Amino acid sequence: MSIDKDKEWEGKCLRCGRCCYEKLEYQGQVYYTDVPCEKLDRRSGLCTVYPQREKLRPGCVKITPEIARRGILPEDCPYVEGIIDYPAPGAWDEKQRRSRTRRG
Ligand code: SF4
Repeated sequence: MSIDKDKEWEGKCLRCGRCCYEKLEYQGQVYYTDVPCEKLDRRSGLCTVYPQREKLRPGCVKITPEIARRGILPEDCPYVEGIIDYPAPGAWDEKQRRSRTRRG
């Protein structure tokens, strides 16, 4: 991506910080937990190590258009606007998982 395109892309982010919560993948579906990343400043919604996040926080990935399509961002995130059939993550509910596991 060119520098201008990169800035335009980064400018879409609302800095809400919601994607900075731990996620789980269960039976092919991504779920958000209520556990924030240790590097997230919950008051500002900003990452405290943003320029070095990929190095200092293993597992953190730079959001690209390809990654945005994978279903790891909230469905109202501007990065996923217009993606048809976007596989939006769910909210992790431990009780629900246990009951599904018992049935299945
Ligand atoms: S959920 Fe979307 S808008 Fe909010 S911080 Fe993450 S990328 Fe930015």
